[in-house]
Order: sequence, then structure tokens, then C-alpha cells
Amino acid sequence: MTGIDGVVIVGAGPVGLFLAAELRLADVDVTVLERRTERPPITKGVAMHARTLELLAMRGLAGIFLHSGVRLPGWHFGFLERRVDFTGLDSPYPFVLSFPQDRTEAILEDRALALGARIVRGVQAVGLEQTDDDSVRVITPDADFGAAWVVGADGAASTVRRLAGIDFPGTEATFYSYLGDVVADAPPPPGFNVVNDRGAMMVAPMPGGLHRIAGYDPERQQAGRGALTMDELRETAARISGADFGLRDPKWMTQFDSATRVAATYRSGRVLLAGDAAHMHFPAGGVGLNLGLQDAMNLGWKLAAVSQGRAAESLLDTYEAERRPWAEDVARHTMAQTALITATTAEGLALRKLLSDLMGTLPEMNRTLARRLSAIDVAYPPPNAGTGAHPLTGTRVPAADMPDGRPTTAEPTPGTTAIVRPDGYVWWATDDPSPDLNAARAALGVAF
Ligand SMILES: Cc1cc2nc3c(=O)[nH]c(=O)nc-3n(C[C@H](O)[C@H](O)[C@H](O)COP(=O)(O)OP(=O)(O)OC[C@H]3O[C@@H](n4cnc5c(N)ncnc54)[C@H](O)[C@@H]3O)c2cc1C
Repeated sequence: MTGIDGVVIVGAGPVGLFLAAELRLADVDVTVLERRTERPPITKGVAMHARTLELLAMRGLAGIFLHSGVRLPGWHFGFLERRVDFTGLDSPYPFVLSFPQDRTEAILEDRALALGARIVRGVQAVGLEQTDDDSVRVITPDADFGAAWVVGADGAASTVRRLAGIDFPGTEATFYSYLGDVVADAPPPPGFNVVNDRGAMMVAPMPGGLHRIAGYDPERQQAGRGALTMDELRETAARISGADFGLRDPKWMTQFDSATRVAATYRSGRVLLAGDAAHMHFPAGGVGLNLGLQDAMNLGWKLAAVSQGRAAESLLDTYEAERRPWAEDVARHTMAQTALITATTAEGLALRKLLSDLMGTLPEMNRTLARRLSAIDVAYPPPNAGTGAHPLTGTRVPAADMPDGRPTTAEPTPGTTAIVRPDGYVWWATDDPSPDLNAARAALGVAF
């Protein structure tokens, strides 16, 4: 058995890797266990949204993404014809950044390793024992890994979640989506998506000369999850959009479903969940990875403080209280989008047109959707709001420099002084022109 003080993270996906780096900023002993010997050569996600870029910027990390990512002013909501316009966002990053998830993972892995995390590949967690009040053991076929805390960042089919006995309630799949990352010799213009009485299809340029073809084909629902052939994808494209776009040379072809679930709790004793292990949903709007990275940023500093005895365990309960409602919100808006993507009846198409037209005439509708998808509207108002907390408490700070993950002071509005949490939200604020910051820090209950 190795180490008993630190944290074991199961899963070296983007969330596990980012969490490992966050914990290392506070010098927590971190081991990441990953069943795969190497990262698969596919990219699931491509969309990186404004709040995630703000958080990465706080750690001095945004530059590498901004340098080679593609800035898109708009993104679809449920394949509606009129796209959500992000250019008016109140953020230093008023766009969606197209950046392949496999490269994000490589960057986060390099960072975790550089900060001193241990990443053990080819090791699958198969058992979990919460032995006593102070420790927990992750069991793998060849060795046991002891830790003070275990985080399941092992994806939607999370073994840790199952072993910890945490329920994963939600809705079963209502349809299957096809997906092909392929070469397209005759692609449609960027931003192409169509929903008609034959099905739904989007075609989006990807890095490496590929295009992502994805959507809903009513005639492929019997096939279920899994394999899809090039001929089947060509046939689907021709039938739904009237052209096969010269598709060839697939890099990744699959069918996945629309099941939507949020873990009943994010913590059971010394076991916590983050990322897809805590929430799964249809990848509409390109938000799952963003949601998970924000989980990691929220959890990292809290788990570091509790595991090092710098804060009471109750601080960890705020992780679920703050993050779970946003996962439920994402579950709702992705389900709303799947309803729109599969709205291929005459009534459904009429609803789509109505909503698309309203997006054009109601700026507030566009603004709300842009803020929702980008997670700019995420806030953590204190449960005791109204009992004296400053109104800015729990609100987001768009830009704060915290490369070492320590809280900082900032002036979110002229005349207001705030202490900003390591994850970029106002912790405490005052309009007093000469505040006693030492007293305020001491009252927060976490020593840094
Ligand atoms: C088609 C598609 C498109 C998407 N597009 C976007 C997008 O544009 N933007 C966006 O934000 N999100 C998108 N997503 C969602 C995004 O890919 C996921 O939310 C993200 O991968 C979740 O990261 P994670 O680290 O939580 O889990 P995962 O990426 O699933 O990583 C979990 C890791 O745990 C490992 N593991 C599992 N079980 C064990 C075990 N027992 N022991 C050891 N290791 C284990 C796995 O091998 C894996 O490496 C998309 C998803 C799909 C399918």
C-alpha cells in the first residue's frame, strides 16, 4: 500500500488531471490512477467556453489555448438555425474557443506532472474500502493505493461512484446520435446544421483537416450504441442533407446516446466525485468538459485545505452545494437541446422556427443563452444571503491573477474591496474604504 495522507484521483481524463494540478499547487501528495496505458487518439470535445478560459487565465494557462485555438463568435443551441452570438459577453473572452480535447488533456497532464503529481497508467480501480475514519483504499489488480481522500474522476461509467454506493438518477436514453470525424472533400460552409423531416445533421470543421459530422437519424435508432460504418454515414448525410460532402477516411466513428444523469451526492465519506463521474448528458452546447474543469477548480482548494488540516471538513460540503445545482442546470438545458435536435415532426419544425426567429428579435434571449452556455452566470450566493453578506459575495471575478492558487484581493467595483477565492469567486467584500483584511481573512475559516 502506498501513501496514506494524500489524495488518490481515479481517472486521468481532463478533470482528474486538472484537479491533480490544483492540489499540487498546495503541495498535496497526489497520485492519479488511469486504466489506459496511453491517451486514445480521438478528440471528444472541442468547445471551450468563456468562464473556463477565465479560470485557466487565473492560473496563467490561457495563453497556450488562445494561441492555437480558433475563436468562434457563435455556437449552436439545439441546432437552431440562428446561432447564439457570444460577442456581447461581459468577459475578456467573448467567443467559443475551438480546441481539441486530446490537446487539452496533453497540456493538463504536462502541468500536473510538472507540479509534481504522480500519474500511474495501466492501473484500473476495481475496489474501494473506506477502512476507518481517516483513510480509504483503492484496490487495483496488482496493488492497493491508500489515501486520506479519493476522487472519482473516472468518467460517466464511474467505477468509484458505483463502489461508493452513490446513485446516478436521471433519464434513460431517448435517442442515439451518430458521429463521424472524417475527411470531407466537399464540405458545406462552417456553421452548417440542418433539421428537417428526415433528421438532423451538423458539419463542423475540426483541427487536422477533419470535419465532425453528427446528429440524429431516425432510421438509425435500431443500431443503438457503438459501431457506425463509412457507408452508413455517407448514406445518412445524403438522405438528411441532400449531399454526402465527399466523406472519407474516418478517424472516429460512433453512435452515442442521450442519457442524462446527475449523481445523488458528490461525496460519500472520504470519496468525492468530479466531472463526468458526477454528471452525464448529451454533448449539446459543448459544455461537459467545461463543467468538469469548473468542478475541479471548485474542489481543488477546498480538498487541499481540508486534507492539510487548514479548514474544517464542512468546507467540502460546499463543493456539492455549489456545483451540483449547475450540473442540474446543464442537464436541463442539454435535454431542451435534444428535444430541439430531434424535433423533426411538422410541429417540432414549427417550434424550432419560432424559437430561432425569437432569438433574432429578442436580444435578451440570445444574451441569456450565451451566459448560460459560457457559464458566465455561475455564482455561489451564500446560503445565509440576506443576513449581512455583501451582495457581491459568491459572484464571479472575470479576471484575477492567482497562478499559485492562493486567494487574492481585488476591486470588483470602484470603492469595493474583495477577497477572491482561489477559484475566482468573491469570498468576502466590503465597501469600507479602509477594511481590516487580516481580520476578514481570519474569519473565513481557511488558513493559507
Ligand atoms: C462526442 C462528444 C463531444 C463532446 N464535445 C464537448 C465539447 O465540445 N465541450 C465540452 O466541454 N465537452 C464536450 N464533451 C464532453 C467531454 O468530452 C467530457 O465531459 C469530458 O471528457 C469529461 O472529462 P472527465 O475527465 O470527467 O472524464 P473522462 O474524459 O471520461 O475521463 C475519465 C478517465 O478515467 C479513466 N477510468 C475510467 N474508469 C477507470 C478505472 N476504474 N480505473 C482507472 N481509470 C479509469 C478513463 O480511462 C478516462 O481516461 C463531448 C463528449 C462527447 C462524447
